[in-house]
Amino acid sequence: MSELPAPPSDVSRLLCVVAHPDDMEYGTSAAVATWTARGVEVAYLLVTAGEAGMAEDPQTVAPIREREQRQACACVGVSELTILGHPDGMIEYGLPLRRDIAREIRRFRPDLVVTANFDQEAYGGLNQADHRAAGLAVADAVRDADNRWVFREQIEQEGLTPWHTRALLVAGHPAPTHALAVGPPAVTAAIASLNSHEAYLRHIGDHPDPAEFIPELLREDGRAAGSEYAVGFRLFDLGGA
Ligand SMILES: [Zn+2]
Repeated sequence: MSELPAPPSDVSRLLCVVAHPDDMEYGTSAAVATWTARGVEVAYLLVTAGEAGMAEDPQTVAPIREREQRQACACVGVSELTILGHPDGMIEYGLPLRRDIAREIRRFRPDLVVTANFDQEAYGGLNQADHRAAGLAVADAVRDADNRWVFREQIEQEGLTPWHTRALLVAGHPAPTHALAVGPPAVTAAIASLNSHEAYLRHIGDHPDPAEFIPELLREDGRAAGSEYAVGFRLFDLGGA
């Protein structure tokens, strides 16, 4: 079996865009830890604060989840976290969401954008509505950001310029095209990043132990990458230089 190639390594900025706090923490943050250790600047953009994910009132939950996400980010070397504040559980695919994501892409100017699987079926079952809507909007927003006639008010009134992202990487995809090998320190950081969602994991109750299932997950991708641990991605080349 041929080994999967690594994603492009000559990158300086990478933007991860997902629906909820914790979406990056089911394995993908091991790749983030690896990138930041190499000096890549990584920023997280969350569509929601995850306020509908626990038993308590959303007003109480939003700041808790934001705090836990900041801790999770710190575990893997990420200091820039932006939350768009769309309503958790009710993300709508559409121009307002594409506009918000495109704005952050034009602002941060990433070489690569990472998102999570937005297929109808994912993660061993029916994918969640927010994941589908957010991921599809990310896939479109990377192209929107590059077209000066799309969301042109950002160019004409907000002082932004069009931005070309080289590739979109989809994590958690059943048919990865690329894999980033990660070492034990990145695996440890990834476990710590998921454990940062303390109140949330307590709410779930019977959640499996991150120290057990995260290494297992990364070992699976490692087999495809020819290393002990790896994070697999489906890479979509967006062309251009
Ligand atoms: Zn989620």
